[in-house]
Amino acid sequence: MSNKEKNVDIIIVGGGVAGLSAAQYAARANLDAHVFEEMAPGGTILNVDDLENYPGFETPISGFELSDKFARQAEQFGAKIHYGSVGNVQRNDDGSFTIETEDGIYTAPAVIVATGAKRRELGIPGEVEYQGKGVSYCATCDGPFFKGRKILVIGGGDAACGESLFLSKLTEDVVIIHRKERFRAQKSIASMVEHNENVETRFSHIAKEIKGDGNKILKVTLHDLEKNKTYDEDFDAVFIFIGSDPRTSLVSFAKTDESGYIITNEKMATNIPGLFAVGDVRNTPFRQIVTSASDGAIAAHAASEYIDELKGQAYV
Ligand code: NDP
Repeated sequence: MSNKEKNVDIIIVGGGVAGLSAAQYAARANLDAHVFEEMAPGGTILNVDDLENYPGFETPISGFELSDKFARQAEQFGAKIHYGSVGNVQRNDDGSFTIETEDGIYTAPAVIVATGAKRRELGIPGEVEYQGKGVSYCATCDGPFFKGRKILVIGGGDAACGESLFLSKLTEDVVIIHRKERFRAQKSIASMVEHNENVETRFSHIAKEIKGDGNKILKVTLHDLEKNKTYDEDFDAVFIFIGSDPRTSLVSFAKTDESGYIITNEKMATNIPGLFAVGDVRNTPFRQIVTSASDGAIAAHAASEYIDELKGQAYV
């Protein structure tokens, strides 16, 4: 084995909440745990400005701050976090797994997939052209550029509603459209949007085109599905929150549901022995920070048991 080839106890692909929680629990269980993260620790929650429902915090904490705490806590117990992209997870004949990374080749008896999900795009004319010029998928990142301006939010889930509330602190002129006649978001967040005087809610609406002068957005073509009416309205920015698709390409051999999410049992185990999945990439009914953190803890515990059993067998 070369210097660059390492055998470790557990490989965790993805350094979001689920992956970092798994790393912390695995490291505390005395496993040599290695997290591989493409960007920065935190994943999806890095975009969340005020988290007010993660247990234990009386005042809201930012996603960035919470991610940092997760990462530092995992490292404190001995987990190692590597940054850079990772090649496909390969299954070896002996049941172990190997990945190629920018830090070399790693092999482990267990892998926890925590790769999350990728944001969806609408696919309407003007969306790509005006990305970075008014079309955004992150209110925390881009909202402050549109202080006091007229903003359109598209989507009906927790993200669209939560981000509308954030944007309503920056401007009195937020319009949120949703294709259905009621929000999918949790009732508490949906109700705050519907009662916010800076946010106008329009159900049964879709966006058909984003128009501008090449440098900035000027108008959006909207369609009222109920009245079957299409009209143009002036907007300065369009924030799109229409969900996400699971990132499973690294483990295309794992069994998924019809929407592409990895199927696990209650121990976060997939159909492949030694392969676990946690957080937004798995088929879970509720995607929250607290559930992702819980997934990570369960997976690390189950992986630890799995590794112990393997070691036991090896000694027989
Ligand atoms: P969701 O999948 O929950 O919602 C996506 C929304 O976008 C749905 O209302 C959907 O409509 C709509 N949509 C999808 N495709 C289109 C399209 N092509 N055109 C128009 N509308 C479309 O995604 P979220 O990102 O909101 O949330 C993802 C997960 O993260 C959820 O589990 C959520 O609970 C969680 N989350 C939690 C937060 C918190 O706890 N504070 C904050 C943010 C997210 P339809 O309803 O018709 O399907």
